[in-house]
Amino acid sequence: MSYAAAIVAMAGLFGLAGHAAAARAADIPHVRVLATGGTIAGAQPSATDYGYRSGAYDVNSLLKAVPNLDQLADITGEQVANIGSQDMNDALWLELARRVDAALADPGIDGVLITHGTDTLEETSYFLSLVTKSDEPVVMVGSMRPATAVSADGPGNLYNGVAVAADARARGKGTLVVLNDVIHYARNVVKTDTTSVATFASVNRGPAGLVHTGKIRWFEPMDRKVGPASEFSVGRLSTLPRVDILYAHANMSADLIDAAVKNGAKGLVIAGVGDGNMTTPALDALTRAAKSGIVVVRSTRLPSGIVLRNNEVNDDEKGFVVSGELNPAKSRVLLQLALTKTTDPVRIQKMFYEY
Ligand code: GLU
Repeated sequence: MSYAAAIVAMAGLFGLAGHAAAARAADIPHVRVLATGGTIAGAQPSATDYGYRSGAYDVNSLLKAVPNLDQLADITGEQVANIGSQDMNDALWLELARRVDAALADPGIDGVLITHGTDTLEETSYFLSLVTKSDEPVVMVGSMRPATAVSADGPGNLYNGVAVAADARARGKGTLVVLNDVIHYARNVVKTDTTSVATFASVNRGPAGLVHTGKIRWFEPMDRKVGPASEFSVGRLSTLPRVDILYAHANMSADLIDAAVKNGAKGLVIAGVGDGNMTTPALDALTRAAKSGIVVVRSTRLPSGIVLRNNEVNDDEKGFVVSGELNPAKSRVLLQLALTKTTDPVRIQKMFYEY
């Protein structure tokens, strides 16, 4: 279903509704759940066969399936969309960020939990960690198995996600991602496996913590700017600048780079080979693009590691930016936001070191 169709379908069903607990306790945290779809809300015709539809269940049905959730927090649910996250887009990111800011501006809400498909969870979470303007907890959960599967992982992830969103120690950490008993910082989390419930990993770094049956152990502190410390916000933005990702490979030509430039990209991220490298024709095309004012970020198609500045490529001379630890998808998010402030590659490089 398209985003627009999903919104229309859901608009009549949900307002600020969906109280999971009948009884209200004043002394437990208040968590707002924002649902966007994904496998966690997915249904399949048979519990043991392939084939399912993302976003089949609404937020209230999801919450009702989790035992004892009302003992962790007083929960209200809000349906923002009901899509497979492969259809996530800039407009919905802006809308979601506004809903998070609005929820956390309500003095009655202590934390936000977002349900989301896993395919683009690493991008949406990083975007939100850079633009949301509250220190209160923002936690994202998904699942690898649909709600109707044998051993569905969604209810456990929801339970743990609510526990983290209700934990005052989660304040100031930026957006967190909770799946399979692990708490990840949005900046570091990457999907690594097409089907495993242990698909998410904090690449290059340790996880933020662990959560088991709602009991939390916090580990690594976050050392990059998030939330109110970030200079970015959705403010009055109605669109985000176009940034394309180009995947490097042996014998890569300049054709797709030239096509991206011709189609109006304001920024380009190269998923380079090795330490952000590419063929000579591709390097020449990116050099031309950078000289014409398009911001070029060198990232890597490798699953981990840091792209080094001025190592094999003279980035100073070419006016390039290096992604450091950020993979191409996260580099694209940061570059889109950076381009709302400046097109100066020197300033943008500083942002890649700070966020
Ligand atoms: N492609 C779907 C999505 O990202 C399913 C993947 C998932 O949620 O696990 O929404």
